[in-house]
Amino acid sequence: IYILGIESSCDETAASVVKNGRVVLSNVISSQIDLHTLYGGVVPEIASRKHIERINQVIQEALDTAGMTLDDLDAIGVTYGPGLVGALLVGVAEAKAISYAKKLPLVGVHHIEGHISANYIENPDLEPPFVCLVVSGGHTHLVVVRDYGKYEILGRTRDDAAGEAFDKVARAIGLGYPGGPKIDKLAKEGDPEAISFPRPRFEDSPYDFSFSGLKSAVLNYLNGCQMKGIEVNRADVAASFQKAVCDVLVEHAMIAVKESGLNKFAIAGGVASNSALRAAFEKACAERHMEFYHPSPIFCTDNAAMIGSAAYYEFIAGKRDGLDLNAVPNLKLGER
Ligand code: ATP
Ligand code: MG
Ligand code: FE
Repeated sequence: IYILGIESSCDETAASVVKNGRVVLSNVISSQIDLHTLYGGVVPEIASRKHIERINQVIQEALDTAGMTLDDLDAIGVTYGPGLVGALLVGVAEAKAISYAKKLPLVGVHHIEGHISANYIENPDLEPPFVCLVVSGGHTHLVVVRDYGKYEILGRTRDDAAGEAFDKVARAIGLGYPGGPKIDKLAKEGDPEAISFPRPRFEDSPYDFSFSGLKSAVLNYLNGCQMKGIEVNRADVAASFQKAVCDVLVEHAMIAVKESGLNKFAIAGGVASNSALRAAFEKACAERHMEFYHPSPIFCTDNAAMIGSAAYYEFIAGKRDGLDLNAVPNLKLGER
């Protein structure tokens, strides 16, 4: 089964041909990062306009690389939420047009289900059930993947997402957008124990997260230094902040794994490409004799291969969408 995946929920225009949900024949990503960097974040209208300019070429390139035409496909998978509405609409309209013209089945995919499914691509032995920590620009979810397409959310962030915290702290120390990769790099030169930042926990739910207090603590630290005339060691701030984030993510995830009784754990989303986070989970899982799964960095951040993979499992389960498929900007995981 060959599926064309289409992704346009934020600032990446992406298309990919995926065979049987696991084999990626092409993975084309046209990022708009350079455009949005000027504004320090994603500007929704600019994102929509760029998607509409680029999407046909991106799809053509994905087909060419796979050595295929639209006639060789079995279905179209497209992200229909959550995300920026104007950005999502471009991919959804495109997918519907192809579906109509070529009489191909259409499968709407949840973007976060896509991020989770990225783990299937390079791990041919990974099958549900497993526990997955989703850490992206807009989401921080601890999920039990019971089966393909079946998700049980154990906990989530009560304020900022992990990626959002990376981006805001990066901006505060003058690293610019997107902050995650820049903090990751700078932190390698810093001391993670230099500054003690908070590790928020909740009495009533060991699975929930909070990152806005941590972000404020970093801002307070920076202000304090400025008032006292102390020069800030940005690498130490980056390393200490990153360590605080990793500590709570690992701690909460390991509680979830233990309680679930499962011995497979995966991470997903843009922040899952963070080198310190991967190392921390590598260690935590090895100590507990658990399997640890993670996508390559290129499949962690937004891409369409993950959408093609998720669409495959929906497709073989019989899911089909009609030409009335619409973008749902605040779509919840597990709802349809
Ligand atoms: P969502 O998937 O929740 O809708 P999104 O699609 O914008 O949001 P992703 O593309 O999954 O998010 O991930 C982007 C986020 O990942 C950004 O916040 C970025 O800073 C962060 N990120 C990317 N690389 C790294 C890294 N190496 N370390 C930490 N964070 C990173
Ligand atoms: Mg992006
Ligand atoms: Fe994403």
